[in-house]
Amino acid sequence: MKPEKALIFEMSRPGRVAYSLPACDVPESAPADYIPASMLRSKPAELPEVYEVDVIRHYTELSRRNFGIDNGFYPLGSCTMKYNPKINENTARFAGFAGIHPYQPVESIQGALELLYTLQNDLAALTGMDQVTLQPAAGAHGEWTGLMMIRAYHESRGEKRTKVIVPDSSHGTNPASATVAGFETITITSNERGHVDLDALRAAVGPDTAALMLTNPSTLGLFEEQIEEIAAIIHKAGGLLYYDGANSNAIMGITRPGDMGFDVVHLNLHKTMSTPHGGGGPGAGPVGVKSRLIPFLPKPVVAKREDGTFYFDFDRPASIGRVKAYYGNFGILVRAYTYIRTYGPEGLRRVSECAVLNANYMMRRLSNAYEIPYPGVCKHEFVMSGRGLKRYGVRTLDVAKRLLDFGYHPPTIYFPLNVEECIMIEPTETESKETLDAFVDTMISIAKEAEETPEVVLNAPYDTVVRRLDETQAARKPVLNCSCG
Ligand SMILES: *Cc1c(COP(=O)(O)O)cnc(C)c1O
Repeated sequence: MKPEKALIFEMSRPGRVAYSLPACDVPESAPADYIPASMLRSKPAELPEVYEVDVIRHYTELSRRNFGIDNGFYPLGSCTMKYNPKINENTARFAGFAGIHPYQPVESIQGALELLYTLQNDLAALTGMDQVTLQPAAGAHGEWTGLMMIRAYHESRGEKRTKVIVPDSSHGTNPASATVAGFETITITSNERGHVDLDALRAAVGPDTAALMLTNPSTLGLFEEQIEEIAAIIHKAGGLLYYDGANSNAIMGITRPGDMGFDVVHLNLHKTMSTPHGGGGPGAGPVGVKSRLIPFLPKPVVAKREDGTFYFDFDRPASIGRVKAYYGNFGILVRAYTYIRTYGPEGLRRVSECAVLNANYMMRRLSNAYEIPYPGVCKHEFVMSGRGLKRYGVRTLDVAKRLLDFGYHPPTIYFPLNVEECIMIEPTETESKETLDAFVDTMISIAKEAEETPEVVLNAPYDTVVRRLDETQAARKPVLNCSCG
């Protein structure tokens, strides 16, 4: 058996140091009149005294307890990007990009502005929009930005439109953003095929409709075939169409929201354009708009003069204002730009084709062991139901916990809300057939375990640093300090 790894406080021995500093050239104890006595430490801080290698090993060990895309397969649905190309990191570290300051004169940052300008145009071309802002820092932030522009648009026409329609399969951020932007949300149910119910939509629209927010393909992985009819219903009522393009992997180079009739789109660069997803950011949720919404874009807008130089255009009287400090998360934008340049238009189309192929392959193979509520062709992701395992007392959560023992990050579970015991899988294009097969085999063997030895699944995981956590308490009252001894 391996000896238990000592934690850093247990390794501590008086006098050990992990650093070497130059000799102190100021008085070591500050005079009392310089720092008030109440702010001075009365006894030394309790810090571990260890060697440099111990510190490195401690943090490396902690990092290994985490699961990330560089550790293994990560089939989370509605989270797409599981690929952070290392070349992105190289370009983001170019001195001219990494060392830039937001207050530098524009003449000295022409290259950075050209990159932003080109990225805006690339994303506009990819989505079929007329102009793009790169300011928003996340998908939800992009949604809010788009909705604020929709609000400004209706107000500029003297119209009072207060309602935003969302389908019941929509991502939770959609109704949340609509509420924060000052709208009331109306949820419409999906039909038995998982699509927008046109009759329910017709009944919901009216003179107070500001917009419909739609994800297409939906979070069920289904493409809304009646999208042109949906767009006509909304436009006829005077509303606008908002496209949640957080995960656009299924459509790149194949179809565009702009061509489907959408007026506003946001993309998650951390889901569709290979920028890192972990740790809560920084992210980027650029927003594209059709021409009638251009006046309302956040300012400043990165623009190009006739002589070929670039500048920040602040002269935008109808703008909704600035939505992010400075100009967005620049380092992330450099990574997305690199990804687009690396793949090119043909490569991006191939990404989408392979993402869809992989999802369909897995769905077919898993259909013998799990229920597939919408068995047609899926796009980049698909949903299954673990409802069939309930008769053995096993639930979707237990299947997800058991996956941890086999070294997999579980897929998304219990979302979308309209599928019972939902399991939502998104393999993406970057995984090999061997990886997909190994995961499918594991899922099938867990379904078999559930039937034959349900207690094995119910008590999982066995092989992780911690066993089952109280997830609610873990989120609400996290214990963040080292509880040694
Ligand atoms: C992830 C996601 C969002 C929200 O994006 P954040 O960057 O997490 O704010 C919105 N819609 C869909 C469909 C998503 O998958």
